[in-house]
Amino acid sequence: MTTATSTAVISVENVYKTFGDLTVLDGVSLTLHDGEIVALLGRSGSGKSTLLRCLAGLTAATSGTVSYRGDALNGANPGVSMVFQSFALLPWLTVQENVELGLQALSVPAAQRRERALAALDMIGLDGFESAYPRELSGGMRQRVGFARALVVEPDALLMDEPFSALDVLTSENLRAELLRLWQDPEFPTRTGLIVTHNIEEAIQLADRVLILDSNPGRIKGELTIDLAHPRDRRSPEFESYVDTVYEILTGHARDGSRQTIDALPAANTGEIAGLIELLHHRGGSVGLAEIADELRYELDDLLPVVDAVVMLKLALPRGSGLQLSEQGRRFASADILRAKEQFATLVVEHAPLVRGIVKQLRRSDNGAVRADTILDDLRDTFGDASARSQFDTAVDWGRYSELLEYDVGTNRIELA
Ligand code: ADP
Ligand code: MG
Repeated sequence: MTTATSTAVISVENVYKTFGDLTVLDGVSLTLHDGEIVALLGRSGSGKSTLLRCLAGLTAATSGTVSYRGDALNGANPGVSMVFQSFALLPWLTVQENVELGLQALSVPAAQRRERALAALDMIGLDGFESAYPRELSGGMRQRVGFARALVVEPDALLMDEPFSALDVLTSENLRAELLRLWQDPEFPTRTGLIVTHNIEEAIQLADRVLILDSNPGRIKGELTIDLAHPRDRRSPEFESYVDTVYEILTGHARDGSRQTIDALPAANTGEIAGLIELLHHRGGSVGLAEIADELRYELDDLLPVVDAVVMLKLALPRGSGLQLSEQGRRFASADILRAKEQFATLVVEHAPLVRGIVKQLRRSDNGAVRADTILDDLRDTFGDASARSQFDTAVDWGRYSELLEYDVGTNRIELA
Protein backbone atom coordinates (compact mmCIF):
# COMPACT_ATOMS: atom_id res chain seq x y z
CA MET A 1 0.00 0.00 0.00
CA THR A 2 2.84 2.39 0.69
CA THR A 3 4.66 1.81 -2.57
CA ALA A 4 2.63 2.14 -5.70
CA THR A 5 4.91 0.81 -8.37
CA SER A 6 4.15 1.33 -11.99
CA THR A 7 3.29 -2.30 -12.79
CA ALA A 8 -0.24 -2.47 -14.10
CA VAL A 9 -2.43 -5.22 -12.63
CA ILE A 10 -5.56 -4.21 -14.51
CA SER A 11 -5.77 -1.62 -17.24
CA VAL A 12 -8.85 -0.23 -18.85
CA GLU A 13 -8.43 1.58 -22.13
CA ASN A 14 -11.07 3.79 -23.62
CA VAL A 15 -13.99 1.63 -22.52
CA TYR A 16 -17.50 2.38 -23.72
CA LYS A 17 -20.53 0.56 -22.41
CA THR A 18 -24.01 1.09 -23.71
CA PHE A 19 -27.35 -0.52 -22.89
CA GLY A 20 -29.54 0.13 -25.91
CA ASP A 21 -29.58 3.90 -26.34
CA LEU A 22 -28.15 4.53 -22.93
CA THR A 23 -24.41 5.29 -22.79
CA VAL A 24 -23.26 4.35 -19.31
CA LEU A 25 -19.48 4.46 -19.73
CA ASP A 26 -18.11 7.00 -22.13
CA GLY A 27 -14.46 6.40 -22.89
CA VAL A 28 -13.14 5.39 -19.48
CA SER A 29 -9.44 4.66 -19.01
CA LEU A 30 -7.77 3.71 -15.76
CA THR A 31 -4.92 1.62 -14.44
CA LEU A 32 -4.84 -0.32 -11.22
CA HIS A 33 -1.19 -0.66 -10.17
CA ASP A 34 0.42 -3.37 -8.13
CA GLY A 35 0.15 -2.66 -4.42
CA GLU A 36 -2.31 0.22 -4.46
CA ILE A 37 -5.83 0.67 -3.20
CA VAL A 38 -7.94 2.80 -5.48
CA ALA A 39 -11.37 4.15 -4.65
CA LEU A 40 -13.86 4.75 -7.42
CA LEU A 41 -16.23 7.44 -6.23
CA GLY A 42 -19.40 8.60 -7.93
CA ARG A 43 -23.09 9.17 -7.47
CA SER A 44 -25.54 6.36 -7.83
CA GLY A 45 -26.23 5.59 -11.48
CA SER A 46 -22.86 6.94 -12.62
CA GLY A 47 -21.76 3.51 -13.84
CA LYS A 48 -19.51 2.39 -10.98
CA SER A 49 -20.89 -1.14 -10.77
CA THR A 50 -20.87 -1.44 -14.54
CA LEU A 51 -17.22 -0.41 -14.66
CA LEU A 52 -16.36 -2.88 -11.91
CA ARG A 53 -18.11 -5.68 -13.77
CA CYS A 54 -16.09 -4.79 -16.87
CA LEU A 55 -12.87 -5.01 -14.83
CA ALA A 56 -13.93 -8.39 -13.47
CA GLY A 57 -14.78 -9.56 -16.97
CA LEU A 58 -18.35 -10.31 -15.88
CA THR A 59 -19.66 -8.07 -18.62
CA ALA A 60 -17.97 -7.18 -21.87
CA ALA A 61 -17.28 -3.58 -22.79
CA THR A 62 -19.14 -2.38 -25.88
CA SER A 63 -15.77 -1.14 -27.13
CA GLY A 64 -12.32 -0.58 -25.69
CA THR A 65 -10.16 -3.10 -23.84
CA VAL A 66 -9.69 -4.37 -20.32
CA SER A 67 -6.40 -6.19 -19.66
CA TYR A 68 -5.13 -8.25 -16.77
CA ARG A 69 -1.33 -8.13 -16.44
CA GLY A 70 -1.00 -7.17 -20.06
CA ASP A 71 -3.43 -9.70 -21.56
CA ALA A 72 -6.73 -8.48 -22.96
CA LEU A 73 -9.66 -10.13 -21.17
CA ASN A 74 -11.90 -12.49 -23.00
CA GLY A 75 -14.27 -13.64 -20.27
CA ALA A 76 -13.84 -13.61 -16.51
CA ASN A 77 -10.73 -11.93 -15.12
CA PRO A 78 -8.59 -14.72 -13.62
CA GLY A 79 -6.80 -12.39 -11.20
CA VAL A 80 -9.67 -10.90 -9.24
CA SER A 81 -12.29 -11.71 -6.61
CA MET A 82 -15.30 -9.60 -5.82
CA VAL A 83 -17.15 -8.45 -2.74
CA PHE A 84 -20.70 -7.20 -3.20
CA GLN A 85 -22.91 -4.79 -1.28
CA SER A 86 -25.57 -7.48 -1.03
CA PHE A 87 -23.04 -10.06 0.30
CA ALA A 88 -24.28 -12.55 -2.35
CA LEU A 89 -24.06 -15.61 -0.07
CA LEU A 90 -25.85 -18.86 -0.77
CA PRO A 91 -28.42 -19.23 2.04
CA TRP A 92 -28.49 -23.04 1.93
CA LEU A 93 -24.74 -23.36 2.53
CA THR A 94 -22.94 -22.89 5.84
CA VAL A 95 -20.41 -20.15 6.36
CA GLN A 96 -17.57 -22.55 5.67
CA GLU A 97 -19.22 -24.02 2.58
CA ASN A 98 -19.82 -20.52 1.23
CA VAL A 99 -16.14 -19.74 1.64
CA GLU A 100 -15.01 -23.04 0.13
CA LEU A 101 -17.10 -22.24 -2.90
CA GLY A 102 -14.44 -19.78 -4.01
CA LEU A 103 -11.95 -22.66 -4.21
CA GLN A 104 -14.16 -25.21 -5.88
CA ALA A 105 -13.85 -23.47 -9.23
CA LEU A 106 -10.08 -23.78 -8.95
CA SER A 107 -10.39 -27.54 -8.38
CA VAL A 108 -8.52 -27.45 -5.09
CA PRO A 109 -8.74 -30.89 -3.36
CA ALA A 110 -11.35 -31.13 -0.57
CA ALA A 111 -8.95 -31.42 2.34
CA GLN A 112 -7.00 -28.40 1.24
CA ARG A 113 -10.22 -26.46 0.59
CA ARG A 114 -11.26 -27.06 4.16
CA GLU A 115 -7.95 -25.98 5.56
CA ARG A 116 -7.75 -22.82 3.49
CA ALA A 117 -11.37 -21.86 4.20
CA LEU A 118 -10.78 -22.23 7.94
CA ALA A 119 -7.66 -20.09 7.71
CA ALA A 120 -9.56 -17.38 5.80
CA LEU A 121 -12.41 -17.44 8.32
CA ASP A 122 -9.94 -17.18 11.15
CA MET A 123 -8.19 -14.23 9.57
CA ILE A 124 -11.44 -12.32 9.07
CA GLY A 125 -12.75 -12.88 12.61
CA LEU A 126 -15.28 -15.66 11.94
CA ASP A 127 -13.66 -18.30 14.08
CA GLY A 128 -16.49 -20.29 15.69
CA PHE A 129 -19.07 -19.43 13.02
CA GLU A 130 -17.99 -22.11 10.51
CA SER A 131 -21.18 -24.15 10.67
CA ALA A 132 -23.64 -21.26 10.98
CA TYR A 133 -25.97 -20.39 8.10
CA PRO A 134 -26.02 -16.85 6.68
CA ARG A 135 -29.49 -16.13 8.11
CA GLU A 136 -28.14 -16.61 11.63
CA LEU A 137 -25.59 -13.84 11.14
CA SER A 138 -25.76 -10.05 11.42
CA GLY A 139 -25.08 -7.97 8.31
CA GLY A 140 -21.54 -7.28 9.44
CA MET A 141 -20.80 -10.98 9.96
CA ARG A 142 -22.33 -11.85 6.59
CA GLN A 143 -20.07 -9.36 4.89
CA ARG A 144 -17.11 -10.92 6.69
CA VAL A 145 -18.11 -14.16 4.98
CA GLY A 146 -18.22 -12.22 1.71
CA PHE A 147 -14.66 -11.03 2.31
CA ALA A 148 -13.45 -14.50 3.38
CA ARG A 149 -14.91 -16.09 0.24
CA ALA A 150 -13.19 -13.48 -1.94
CA LEU A 151 -9.84 -13.63 -0.13
CA VAL A 152 -9.56 -17.40 0.26
CA VAL A 153 -8.31 -17.71 -3.32
CA GLU A 154 -5.60 -15.13 -2.58
CA PRO A 155 -6.58 -13.02 -5.57
CA ASP A 156 -4.12 -10.69 -7.21
CA ALA A 157 -6.66 -7.88 -6.83
CA LEU A 158 -9.80 -7.52 -4.73
CA LEU A 159 -12.71 -5.66 -6.34
CA MET A 160 -15.28 -4.34 -3.87
CA ASP A 161 -18.64 -2.89 -4.87
CA GLU A 162 -19.88 -0.71 -2.00
CA PRO A 163 -19.05 -3.47 0.50
CA PHE A 164 -20.02 -1.39 3.55
CA SER A 165 -23.07 0.43 2.18
CA ALA A 166 -25.63 -2.01 3.54
CA LEU A 167 -24.16 -1.95 7.06
CA ASP A 168 -24.89 0.40 9.92
CA VAL A 169 -22.34 3.12 10.67
CA LEU A 170 -20.53 1.40 13.55
CA THR A 171 -20.34 -1.97 11.85
CA SER A 172 -18.98 -0.47 8.66
CA GLU A 173 -16.46 1.58 10.62
CA ASN A 174 -15.27 -1.59 12.32
CA LEU A 175 -14.99 -3.61 9.10
CA ARG A 176 -13.19 -0.81 7.27
CA ALA A 177 -10.62 -0.57 10.06
CA GLU A 178 -10.07 -4.34 10.01
CA LEU A 179 -9.67 -4.38 6.27
CA LEU A 180 -6.99 -1.71 6.55
CA ARG A 181 -5.20 -3.67 9.27
CA LEU A 182 -5.17 -6.77 7.07
CA TRP A 183 -3.85 -4.75 4.18
CA GLN A 184 -1.04 -3.34 6.24
CA ASP A 185 0.12 -6.81 7.28
CA PRO A 186 3.01 -7.70 4.96
CA GLU A 187 1.92 -11.37 5.08
CA PHE A 188 -1.45 -10.53 3.54
CA PRO A 189 -1.27 -12.03 0.03
CA THR A 190 -3.63 -9.65 -1.80
CA ARG A 191 -1.83 -6.38 -2.43
CA THR A 192 -4.13 -4.53 -4.81
CA GLY A 193 -7.69 -3.33 -4.35
CA LEU A 194 -10.39 -1.31 -5.99
CA ILE A 195 -13.31 -0.16 -3.89
CA VAL A 196 -16.42 1.39 -5.35
CA THR A 197 -18.17 3.81 -3.04
CA HIS A 198 -20.44 6.81 -2.97
CA ASN A 199 -19.06 7.84 0.41
CA ILE A 200 -16.36 10.52 0.16
CA GLU A 201 -14.93 9.91 3.61
CA GLU A 202 -14.72 6.20 3.02
CA ALA A 203 -12.78 6.79 -0.18
CA ILE A 204 -10.29 9.11 1.51
CA GLN A 205 -10.00 6.86 4.55
CA LEU A 206 -9.03 3.78 2.56
CA ALA A 207 -7.46 4.67 -0.73
CA ASP A 208 -4.07 5.67 -2.03
CA ARG A 209 -5.81 7.21 -5.01
CA VAL A 210 -9.39 8.34 -5.54
CA LEU A 211 -10.91 8.38 -9.01
CA ILE A 212 -14.04 10.47 -9.39
CA LEU A 213 -16.58 9.23 -11.88
CA ASP A 214 -18.90 11.74 -13.49
CA SER A 215 -22.43 10.68 -14.39
CA ASN A 216 -24.55 10.78 -17.53
CA PRO A 217 -22.48 9.43 -19.10
CA GLY A 218 -19.81 7.98 -16.82
CA ARG A 219 -16.31 9.28 -17.33
CA ILE A 220 -13.37 9.86 -15.05
CA LYS A 221 -13.78 13.45 -13.98
CA GLY A 222 -10.80 13.78 -11.70
CA GLU A 223 -8.19 11.97 -9.72
CA LEU A 224 -6.70 12.61 -6.32
CA THR A 225 -3.67 11.01 -4.67
CA ILE A 226 -4.20 10.71 -0.92
CA ASP A 227 -0.88 11.39 0.68
CA LEU A 228 -1.74 10.65 4.32
CA ALA A 229 -0.27 8.05 6.66
CA HIS A 230 -2.56 5.44 8.24
CA PRO A 231 -4.48 5.54 10.45
CA ARG A 232 -6.11 8.61 8.96
CA ASP A 233 -7.91 11.04 11.21
CA ARG A 234 -10.96 12.36 9.46
CA ARG A 235 -11.05 15.40 11.74
CA SER A 236 -7.57 16.50 10.69
CA PRO A 237 -7.32 19.61 8.49
CA GLU A 238 -5.47 17.59 5.83
CA PHE A 239 -8.28 15.03 5.65
CA GLU A 240 -10.90 17.77 5.50
CA SER A 241 -9.02 19.49 2.74
CA TYR A 242 -9.14 16.29 0.67
CA VAL A 243 -12.90 16.14 1.25
CA ASP A 244 -13.18 19.72 -0.02
CA THR A 245 -11.12 18.91 -3.10
CA VAL A 246 -13.43 15.98 -3.92
CA TYR A 247 -16.47 18.26 -3.67
CA GLU A 248 -14.72 20.76 -5.89
CA ILE A 249 -14.15 18.10 -8.55
CA LEU A 250 -17.66 16.69 -8.20
CA THR A 251 -19.42 20.01 -8.62
CA GLY A 252 -16.95 21.51 -11.09
CA HIS A 253 -17.75 21.68 -14.76
CA ALA A 254 -16.77 18.82 -17.02
CA ARG A 255 -13.38 19.75 -18.43
CA ASP A 256 -14.25 19.26 -22.06
CA GLY A 257 -17.71 20.73 -21.59
CA SER A 258 -19.42 18.08 -23.69
CA ARG A 259 -22.00 16.63 -21.36
CA GLN A 260 -24.52 14.61 -23.25
CA THR A 261 -27.79 15.04 -21.38
CA ILE A 262 -27.42 18.67 -20.50
CA ASP A 263 -31.19 19.07 -20.24
CA ALA A 264 -31.73 16.44 -17.57
CA LEU A 265 -33.19 17.75 -14.31
CA PRO A 266 -31.32 16.95 -11.11
CA ALA A 267 -33.45 14.77 -8.83
CA ALA A 268 -34.14 17.49 -6.27
CA ASN A 269 -37.56 18.59 -5.12
CA THR A 270 -38.58 22.19 -4.55
CA GLY A 271 -38.66 21.75 -0.77
CA GLU A 272 -35.01 20.75 -0.76
CA ILE A 273 -34.07 23.52 -3.18
CA ALA A 274 -35.77 26.18 -1.07
CA GLY A 275 -34.27 24.66 2.08
CA LEU A 276 -30.72 24.83 0.74
CA ILE A 277 -31.17 28.45 -0.37
CA GLU A 278 -32.55 29.36 3.02
CA LEU A 279 -29.61 27.71 4.74
CA LEU A 280 -27.18 29.60 2.50
CA HIS A 281 -28.97 32.82 3.28
CA HIS A 282 -28.76 32.21 7.02
CA ARG A 283 -25.06 31.54 6.72
CA GLY A 284 -24.38 34.91 5.14
CA GLY A 285 -24.43 33.67 1.55
CA SER A 286 -21.73 31.05 1.40
CA VAL A 287 -21.14 27.61 2.81
CA GLY A 288 -18.88 24.59 2.21
CA LEU A 289 -20.50 21.42 0.91
CA ALA A 290 -18.59 19.20 3.34
CA GLU A 291 -20.06 21.26 6.17
CA ILE A 292 -23.64 20.92 4.88
CA ALA A 293 -23.29 17.20 4.30
CA ASP A 294 -21.92 16.74 7.77
CA GLU A 295 -24.52 18.87 9.45
CA LEU A 296 -27.54 17.47 7.61
CA ARG A 297 -26.07 13.94 7.55
CA TYR A 298 -26.62 14.04 3.82
CA GLU A 299 -25.02 11.44 1.61
CA LEU A 300 -23.53 12.35 -1.71
CA ASP A 301 -26.61 11.14 -3.55
CA ASP A 302 -28.90 13.33 -1.46
CA LEU A 303 -26.86 16.50 -1.54
CA LEU A 304 -25.43 16.73 -5.06
CA PRO A 305 -28.74 16.80 -6.95
CA VAL A 306 -29.88 19.71 -4.77
CA VAL A 307 -26.58 21.50 -5.40
CA ASP A 308 -26.96 20.87 -9.14
CA ALA A 309 -30.50 22.24 -9.03
CA VAL A 310 -29.66 25.52 -7.29
CA VAL A 311 -26.72 26.00 -9.66
CA MET A 312 -28.84 25.13 -12.71
CA LEU A 313 -31.47 27.67 -11.64
CA LYS A 314 -28.76 30.24 -10.91
CA LEU A 315 -29.90 30.63 -7.32
CA ALA A 316 -26.32 29.91 -6.27
CA LEU A 317 -22.91 29.51 -7.87
CA PRO A 318 -20.28 26.88 -7.22
CA ARG A 319 -17.33 28.42 -5.38
CA GLY A 320 -14.43 26.07 -4.85
CA SER A 321 -15.76 23.32 -2.61
CA GLY A 322 -18.84 25.27 -1.61
CA LEU A 323 -21.73 27.40 -2.80
CA GLN A 324 -22.22 31.14 -3.01
CA LEU A 325 -25.71 32.62 -3.00
CA SER A 326 -26.43 34.68 -6.12
CA GLU A 327 -28.35 37.93 -6.23
CA GLN A 328 -31.34 35.92 -7.48
CA GLY A 329 -30.89 33.52 -4.58
CA ARG A 330 -30.82 36.37 -2.10
CA ARG A 331 -34.06 37.72 -3.51
CA PHE A 332 -35.65 34.27 -3.48
CA ALA A 333 -34.69 33.75 0.15
CA SER A 334 -36.10 37.09 1.26
CA ALA A 335 -39.31 37.01 -0.81
CA ASP A 336 -42.74 36.07 0.51
CA ILE A 337 -44.08 32.76 -0.75
CA LEU A 338 -46.02 34.19 -3.71
CA ARG A 339 -43.13 36.24 -5.00
CA ALA A 340 -40.77 33.34 -4.42
CA LYS A 341 -42.99 31.12 -6.56
CA GLU A 342 -43.18 33.74 -9.31
CA GLN A 343 -39.45 34.13 -9.32
CA PHE A 344 -39.00 30.37 -9.34
CA ALA A 345 -41.31 30.12 -12.36
CA THR A 346 -39.18 32.64 -14.26
CA LEU A 347 -35.98 30.79 -13.40
CA VAL A 348 -37.43 27.42 -14.35
CA VAL A 349 -38.62 28.68 -17.72
CA GLU A 350 -35.24 30.30 -18.33
CA HIS A 351 -32.90 27.58 -17.12
CA ALA A 352 -34.77 24.27 -17.16
CA PRO A 353 -35.41 23.51 -20.85
CA LEU A 354 -37.25 20.32 -19.98
CA VAL A 355 -39.96 22.11 -17.99
CA ARG A 356 -40.06 24.93 -20.54
CA GLY A 357 -40.63 22.31 -23.25
CA ILE A 358 -43.58 20.80 -21.38
CA VAL A 359 -45.15 24.22 -20.80
CA LYS A 360 -44.76 25.01 -24.52
CA GLN A 361 -46.38 21.72 -25.43
CA LEU A 362 -49.33 22.55 -23.15
CA ARG A 363 -49.72 26.00 -24.68
CA ARG A 364 -49.71 24.54 -28.18
CA SER A 365 -52.39 21.95 -27.36
CA ASP A 366 -56.05 22.76 -28.03
CA ASN A 367 -57.28 22.77 -24.46
CA GLY A 368 -54.06 23.45 -22.58
CA ALA A 369 -53.78 19.83 -21.50
CA VAL A 370 -51.68 16.80 -22.48
CA ARG A 371 -51.86 13.19 -21.36
CA ALA A 372 -49.14 12.41 -18.82
CA ASP A 373 -48.34 9.20 -20.73
CA THR A 374 -47.49 11.20 -23.83
CA ILE A 375 -44.97 13.23 -21.86
CA LEU A 376 -43.58 10.12 -20.17
CA ASP A 377 -43.11 8.46 -23.57
CA ASP A 378 -41.19 11.48 -24.84
CA LEU A 379 -39.02 11.38 -21.73
CA ARG A 380 -38.34 7.67 -22.27
CA ASP A 381 -37.10 8.43 -25.77
CA THR A 382 -34.70 11.05 -24.45
CA PHE A 383 -33.57 9.62 -21.12
CA GLY A 384 -34.30 5.90 -21.29
CA ASP A 385 -36.69 3.83 -19.20
CA ALA A 386 -34.66 4.04 -16.03
CA SER A 387 -34.59 7.83 -15.73
CA ALA A 388 -37.85 8.87 -17.43
CA ARG A 389 -39.97 8.52 -14.29
CA SER A 390 -37.68 10.59 -12.09
CA GLN A 391 -37.38 13.28 -14.80
CA PHE A 392 -41.18 13.37 -14.97
CA ASP A 393 -41.59 13.58 -11.20
CA THR A 394 -39.07 16.39 -10.91
CA ALA A 395 -40.55 18.34 -13.84
CA VAL A 396 -44.04 18.04 -12.34
CA ASP A 397 -42.81 19.09 -8.91
CA TRP A 398 -40.97 22.15 -10.25
CA GLY A 399 -43.90 23.03 -12.52
CA ARG A 400 -46.48 22.70 -9.76
CA TYR A 401 -44.50 24.74 -7.27
CA SER A 402 -44.05 27.49 -9.89
CA GLU A 403 -47.77 27.30 -10.65
CA LEU A 404 -46.90 26.76 -14.29
CA LEU A 405 -48.82 23.50 -14.54
CA GLU A 406 -51.11 21.10 -12.75
CA TYR A 407 -51.07 17.34 -12.76
CA ASP A 408 -54.22 15.31 -12.11
CA VAL A 409 -53.28 11.70 -11.37
CA GLY A 410 -56.94 10.64 -11.60
CA THR A 411 -57.41 11.79 -15.19
CA ASN A 412 -53.73 11.28 -16.01
CA ARG A 413 -53.55 14.77 -17.49
CA ILE A 414 -51.11 17.62 -17.21
CA GLU A 415 -52.59 21.05 -17.79
CA LEU A 416 -51.63 24.71 -17.63
CA ALA A 417 -52.21 26.16 -14.19
P1 ADP B 1 -23.79 2.78 -10.07
O1 ADP B 1 -23.17 1.50 -9.63
O2 ADP B 1 -22.81 3.91 -10.19
O3 ADP B 1 -24.95 3.17 -9.23
P2 ADP B 1 -24.61 1.26 -12.40
O4 ADP B 1 -23.35 0.86 -13.06
O5 ADP B 1 -25.30 0.23 -11.58
O6 ADP B 1 -24.36 2.59 -11.56
O7 ADP B 1 -25.65 1.76 -13.48
C1 ADP B 1 -25.35 2.83 -14.37
C2 ADP B 1 -26.52 3.01 -15.32
O8 ADP B 1 -26.61 1.87 -16.18
C3 ADP B 1 -27.86 3.15 -14.65
O9 ADP B 1 -28.60 4.12 -15.36
C4 ADP B 1 -28.46 1.78 -14.80
O10 ADP B 1 -29.87 1.87 -14.85
C5 ADP B 1 -27.90 1.32 -16.12
N1 ADP B 1 -27.74 -0.15 -16.21
C6 ADP B 1 -26.90 -0.90 -15.47
N2 ADP B 1 -26.98 -2.21 -15.81
C7 ADP B 1 -27.90 -2.27 -16.81
C8 ADP B 1 -28.43 -3.35 -17.62
N3 ADP B 1 -28.01 -4.61 -17.46
N4 ADP B 1 -29.35 -3.03 -18.55
C9 ADP B 1 -29.76 -1.76 -18.73
N5 ADP B 1 -29.30 -0.69 -18.01
C10 ADP B 1 -28.38 -0.95 -17.07
MG1 MG C 1 -23.61 0.28 -8.03
